[in-house]
Amino acid sequence: MTRAQWGAKPSKYKLVWVTRTKGVKVHYEGAHVPESLANPDQHSKCDDHMRALQASHMANTEQNYSDIAYNFAVCPHGTVYEGRGVHYLTGANGSQSLNYAHYSVLGFVGNKGLVTPTPAMLGGIRDAIELCRSKGAAADEILGHRDGYNTTCPGEPLYLWVKKGAPRPSGNKPTPPKNPPATPDKPVGVRGSLGAWPGNPPVQYGRTNGHVQKLQLRLRAALGITQARRLNPNGATGYYGNETKAMVKYALRDHPETWDKGETSHDGVVGSKSWSVIDKL
Ligand SMILES: [Zn+2]
Ligand SMILES: [Zn+2]
Repeated sequence: MTRAQWGAKPSKYKLVWVTRTKGVKVHYEGAHVPESLANPDQHSKCDDHMRALQASHMANTEQNYSDIAYNFAVCPHGTVYEGRGVHYLTGANGSQSLNYAHYSVLGFVGNKGLVTPTPAMLGGIRDAIELCRSKGAAADEILGHRDGYNTTCPGEPLYLWVKKGAPRPSGNKPTPPKNPPATPDKPVGVRGSLGAWPGNPPVQYGRTNGHVQKLQLRLRAALGITQARRLNPNGATGYYGNETKAMVKYALRDHPETWDKGETSHDGVVGSKSWSVIDKL
């Protein structure tokens, strides 16, 4: 289930791109999860559960999460919810180096109430792991949060299953997602439209969106790698910061018709006039 389908809030900050990982770490909630959530007629509550998880992570001032920390989460009925999705850095594994090493997949089980994963949930976690492999360039490690980090997560029942290699429960068929999460083309590092952009509204310092990314990709293509090395080596991040501003000023250094009246250089604000010049560079 995509973010749009469960009603995700947008990320607070741009999420960090990861090219590949060594595999996936499995998590539980480490809190009370109502046993009733696993009842067959309670699946309509699972979207609420997902939104509540996202809200609690985004309200966590200590961790300052940008978004729900997990790449995917799976409910007791086996539905796979897109969290950060593939190719985005998780926040769940305990440290930045651990986050870069593995994606994270959560099962909706806790340390009280619903503690034993349902077969449908295990099948869904398996689906999520396979999605991380096929769409997110995850290698084949399957570990628990406790591997390499001091935590009880993902709880005994889930961890025993992980230790067995996370086998698909008998009778559970792989579920190809109906709307597979979009795989961003490298070097996309931000969610947003890359569509037509006539320069209005202007793109400027401090913004993060698909139009900034479109500008950055154009600058890289126009100016070549020597100048464009000033942009994030991971590619066009979609964030308009000092480096992007410097690139815009450099690109328009010989185009005074795009400068403000009386100024001696471009101010970095790319409206339709500036864009039409950059577009032809
Ligand atoms: Zn965990
Ligand atoms: Zn459910």
